[in-house]
Amino acid sequence: MVIDVKKSAARGQYEGDFSFTLEPSADKLLIPLCSFGGAVNIEGRYTIYEDDSVGVAFTISYKLVGQCSYCLERAEKQIVYDSDVMFVTDKDDGDNYYYDGIRLDLTSAVNDALLFSQPEVLLCKEGCEGIKIK
Ligand SMILES: [Zn+2]
Repeated sequence: MVIDVKKSAARGQYEGDFSFTLEPSADKLLIPLCSFGGAVNIEGRYTIYEDDSVGVAFTISYKLVGQCSYCLERAEKQIVYDSDVMFVTDKDDGDNYYYDGIRLDLTSAVNDALLFSQPEVLLCKEGCEGIKIK
């Protein structure tokens, strides 16, 4: 997903909404025995500021499916995660994302949100006690 910042600003449009979906690749998964249950939905809003920096607030949602990390039963979890980031034209700004002042590509921010949003374990239910030894 690319925001055409220059074009948008030239039209006097300094804010806008966006929504798109992304097919996540399996190498973004952090939990073993688990996979993405379909596409990742991304919805958000951008604001272009006078110094060409762009604030982007977005929410990603997706489903994780696989085996419970404790008992290996089938498990799935809907993840919803909010992210609020800033894109700047200064390459040396280590706290924010860089863009060239013309077109802003959200892919890296979305990929980071995908990593940050994943739980450490996938559980079949809250408080799963794992495999019961009889
Ligand atoms: Zn379990």
